Amino acid sequence: MHILVVEDEDAIAEPLVNGLRREGFDVSRVATGADALEAAAADLVLLDLRLPDLDGLDVCRRLRERSRVPIIIVTARGEEADRVVGLELGADDYVVKPYGLRELIARIRAVTRRAASAGATGGPLRVGSLEVDERAREACLDGRVLELTPKEFELLAALARDPGAAISRQRLLADVWQTTWYGSSKTIDVHVAALRKKLGDPHWIETVRGVGFRLREP
Ligand code: CA
Repeated sequence: MHILVVEDEDAIAEPLVNGLRREGFDVSRVATGADALEAAAADLVLLDLRLPDLDGLDVCRRLRERSRVPIIIVTARGEEADRVVGLELGADDYVVKPYGLRELIARIRAVTRRAASAGATGGPLRVGSLEVDERAREACLDGRVLELTPKEFELLAALARDPGAAISRQRLLADVWQTTWYGSSKTIDVHVAALRKKLGDPHWIETVRGVGFRLREP
């Protein structure tokens, strides 16, 4: 998942970019509104409202005019009017400076999940060259349809709804097998192994030790 960070202050941007990269996100950073509007498409935009060239709210509005990319705006404490206007202009959420990386990541996950479930009625989930169409119950890799069993498909969809996120075994059991019986956890391994084989590269599905699995393009 590719995040565009729009932040002019190096002292804030650098630890933020490094922290997000450590969490497995692809991150690019720009320091001006003009560059934000020219940047390549991202999966999520983290937008500081106090930029040296353009008003961040204008940037927000212009991004929203041309895409449905999730936007989280960053405001300083006390700037409630900006927050309200930002949300009215189509931002999905906001964080208030100073914020912790944990809090930010939780919001990124939440916004991404909402966008993905909205996408379920709008179009297939895309993770690089992988496409998972929940309505058609069909998954394609590089345009080639994957022959998946129903459970393999559901497992892939559960991972693809939040690419890059570590999804716990408990959640997969609940979402795909509708059980919370931890003893059936072995079933997940069997299905993951089968999926890895069908995806042609085991690195599509990474094992997150002690947690579960995460999907990302190798
Ligand atoms: Ca700023």
